[in-house]
Amino acid sequence: MGVVHARNITVAYGAFKVIENLEMHIEEGEFIVLLGPSGCGKSTLLNCVAGLQEVVEGQIWIGENNVTWAAPKDRGIGMVFQSYALYPRMTVRENLSFGLRMSGMAKPEIAERVARAADILQIENLLDRRPSELSGGQRQRVAIGRALVRDVEVFLFDEPLSNLDAKLRTELRVEIKKLHHDLGSTMIYVTHDQIEALTLADKIAVMYKGVIQQFAPPKEVYARPANRFVAGFVGSPAMNFIEARVVDAKAMTVKTEGGTKISLAGYAAERAFVDGQRVEVGVRPEQWIVDEAPEGAVSLDTVISVVEPMGPESLIWAKTGNTTITAKVLDDTGYDEDQPLQVHFLPEQISVFDLKSGKRM
Ligand code: ADP
Ligand code: MG
Repeated sequence: MGVVHARNITVAYGAFKVIENLEMHIEEGEFIVLLGPSGCGKSTLLNCVAGLQEVVEGQIWIGENNVTWAAPKDRGIGMVFQSYALYPRMTVRENLSFGLRMSGMAKPEIAERVARAADILQIENLLDRRPSELSGGQRQRVAIGRALVRDVEVFLFDEPLSNLDAKLRTELRVEIKKLHHDLGSTMIYVTHDQIEALTLADKIAVMYKGVIQQFAPPKEVYARPANRFVAGFVGSPAMNFIEARVVDAKAMTVKTEGGTKISLAGYAAERAFVDGQRVEVGVRPEQWIVDEAPEGAVSLDTVISVVEPMGPESLIWAKTGNTTITAKVLDDTGYDEDQPLQVHFLPEQISVFDLKSGKRM
């Protein structure tokens, strides 16, 4: 029942096509995160599933039903917005029960469902308060409760934690994950926050300019980004990119922008290197090895510009040619500004992208 399928949908605002021929298939019970920068079309896609946005082409299926033209209330979905969207004059209990009362459900059944939702979300003691008497986190719990009482197959969340402070955001994030674990419902969750995506998702759909760039489990998105955009967007501090030119395609030897020849032998390429091709070598800050080079490692000479302590670890900013790289280290003793530093990486761990197309090599 909770399978969601966007079939070849196109969405336009006037003449401007925000989404074109998009295909997305979500299995029952999956937690899917739509991740991407502001304006990339995440809310638009979610609203198409919710029935708040019409598609100009294609279809939306939920379970066995083609819901492309169905009203939001008839789609078996519950939606939670960033702005909570609670009725300010109603108590929490009334907010939770309003939709059910409108649908003509019997009172005892309503009371039972409200009690169950309040129990799951731990808001029993708030039932007689109004939204203005609640904190942001409590308001968002009530908003989630409103979807919960309706017993929906599919939960849709649009940046539900964005209005909360950092501590509450983390707390409620964990609760949403637990809720998914307990209910097993399909959930589609929109965010621009990569930490939320990496922590919550079974699969992340990374979006850019209305196009799904990669649709894969978080670990795969992180370890094997499909293209340059995904590589740069996911990961903090961001992946380092070093421009280079292929000088020997067979041996996977490239010459960096700084003039160093390095062999990427060991890199599991999906596309063949071509002589003369311009590429970007992508190394995550934690993939740099700053002490002894292990067997098969590639080395680069740098000069340290800044050492930045970050509590349990430190970030070393260093220059090689015109490129600044950042290396994560656990212990920063012995690394000083303006000192030379040789850094290393293992080709099998890193990413390489074609400079022109941005595609993973
Ligand atoms: P996101 O949720 O990823 O931030 P949206 O789906 O809200 O992005 O918007 C995608 C694009 O569509 C943006 O360029 C935005 O400006 C445009 N857009 C969104 N809503 C409307 C609208 N009602 N009318 C015209 N353009 C819109
Ligand atoms: Mg949005």
